Amino acid sequence: MLTDQGIWLSTETPPRREGRPGLFLDRDGVLVREVNYLKNKEDVVLEAGAAGIVRWARARDFGVAAITNQSGIARGIVSWAAFEAVEAEIARQLAAAGAALDLVVACPFHPDFTPGYGPAEAAWRKPGPRMIEEAARRMDLDLAASWLIGDKASDIEAAKRAGLKGAVIVATGYGAQEREATLAFRDNTFEVIAADSLTEAQSALDEAF
Ligand SMILES: [Mg+2]
Repeated sequence: MLTDQGIWLSTETPPRREGRPGLFLDRDGVLVREVNYLKNKEDVVLEAGAAGIVRWARARDFGVAAITNQSGIARGIVSWAAFEAVEAEIARQLAAAGAALDLVVACPFHPDFTPGYGPAEAAWRKPGPRMIEEAARRMDLDLAASWLIGDKASDIEAAKRAGLKGAVIVATGYGAQEREATLAFRDNTFEVIAADSLTEAQSALDEAF
């Protein structure tokens, strides 16, 4: 559903985790195969290990949220109805593999296509941190103990700005070409781990969480 701020939430009342860590996942190129402006549910293909890492995080009682920029909506390429059909298909495929996300947060804004785009919209759109902060607020997550998995530098920057413990850059989607830019966000307060796949990311996080 759309909020008053113009972002989309899969539910307004996700399960609360009372100070537990969160695992934040980018959608395109991480949870599902990267398709330019994914708008047909027939094109939804889960990345290898997607259901597995969601099940793994849920088994540890972590909150699990997908955090996704969807500028195709601002650009007029993807309708909200098409976006919601894609989301339903992702949820269906995850459920078929015994996995479920607690929450999906989607930002439709783009500086060149959203009328009146300003600081509020920029805070929502990654690399802004606000989608992550909003998910954490609604699920009562401990941001400083949480991780994100992304395929772009903007994902990893958003994680850092939200105060997460660290992020994993996978090699799927745009990840291979973004890896070097992403590792630049690593410092003594924020870890960045490079992994080839979600399966490898899960092994790394099993030790890092
Ligand atoms: Mg992506």
